[in-house]
Amino acid sequence: MKKIIIQKFGGSSLASAESRNQAAQRVIATRNQGYEVILVVSAIGRKGDPYATDTLIDLAKEVNREINPRELDILLNCGEIISAVIMAQVFKGLGIDAIVLTGAQAGIITDDNYNEAKILKIETEKLKNCLRENKLIIVCGFQGITPDGQLTTLGRGGSDTTAAALGVALNAEYIDIFTDVDGIKTADPRIVENAKTLATITYTESCNLAQQGAKVIHPRAVEIAMQKNIPIRIKSTFTDSPGTLITNNGNNHQTVEISGQRLVTGITHMPNIAQIKVLTEQVEEQKKINLNIFKSLALANISVDFINVHPQQVLFTVKDSEIEKTIQILGTLGLKPEILEDCAKVSVVGANIAGVPGVMSSIVEALSEEDIKILQTADSHTTIWCLVRKKDMEKAIRALHKKFNLS
Ligand code: ADP
Ligand code: MG
Repeated sequence: MKKIIIQKFGGSSLASAESRNQAAQRVIATRNQGYEVILVVSAIGRKGDPYATDTLIDLAKEVNREINPRELDILLNCGEIISAVIMAQVFKGLGIDAIVLTGAQAGIITDDNYNEAKILKIETEKLKNCLRENKLIIVCGFQGITPDGQLTTLGRGGSDTTAAALGVALNAEYIDIFTDVDGIKTADPRIVENAKTLATITYTESCNLAQQGAKVIHPRAVEIAMQKNIPIRIKSTFTDSPGTLITNNGNNHQTVEISGQRLVTGITHMPNIAQIKVLTEQVEEQKKINLNIFKSLALANISVDFINVHPQQVLFTVKDSEIEKTIQILGTLGLKPEILEDCAKVSVVGANIAGVPGVMSSIVEALSEEDIKILQTADSHTTIWCLVRKKDMEKAIRALHKKFNLS
């Protein structure tokens, strides 16, 4: 049997007839190299485009703001179905017979956490049958089915996860993620013009970048590919540049420079968060209150970040979209929080940051030189996070990118 490469195309790579043709040419070129290609497609276009995921959400919410997660997932399955069938039509025009498989038909079994479902397993029988029939398989990304037949979706960036899971299930040579930039860069190129493309990067580094906001690849996709050491290549649909290769150091697919040596891999950002401050000095039984705050928020499924507990106050952040719910929950505990909206998290990510003296002081220096107020910081082995005002976010990213000589 031929070796398999999974090739995933994001929404912007499928947005026009011309880009769909370019995507198809990438697939054909890989087939001509002797590989079996399985395509994974996202919904066509981005917010505002007629069949994009966000457009489908708006369509339903215009009728009624409330929508059941289960019904939303049935609607969202349409985006990738449209895209896959359109791509099959493109290939037909090029003389290639393609077969479209929905997530369910491709055997992608998930849990029932609608809108954010996790892949439990892939039943590969159907895929393998199609491969034997020598057809080009186009799988609808981002979607799956529960063991009892409910349609699900995998959350933002979920097509990356589909591609990675198929790569692992079919023991692919590569998982190719085609997008509108030519690889993983030292910062979002929309903000830092001279951000550099990283030629090679480890699973861990790329996962850290992705978790901290580099949306060019979904962190879950990296984790999945890592389980079987399947290399991921991030490439542009529109240029021939080699892109970024994600592997472990020292695996035998290709020689990889020891990227683990670099101190800072990149700067990432996450806008649209709010800082919540709760004054607890007036409150008796402080400890109990602190515990209750986080317990209640967790029970309501609100994820909190940047937690700082002081004797007089508790600080943390939530997503903008969770502000109302947070106020309400704190209210039920008799607490009246102060809210600072329009914040952003800017992160310095690098596998070797831990314990390196001077990294934090460089960050503080870079930001204060630009008069950017640091609202909070936190750190881990691989990341230093700074909370800043959203209006300062881009300036902060550029300043840090420069400070760590990333261009
Ligand atoms: P797709 O629709 O192909 O999945 P995405 O929008 O999900 O594309 O991801 C690609 C985008 O990720 C790029 O257009 C870029 O603006 C953004 N991005 C954010 N951080 C980075 C980074 N560090 N390197 C490359 N791209 C990044
Ligand atoms: Mg994406």
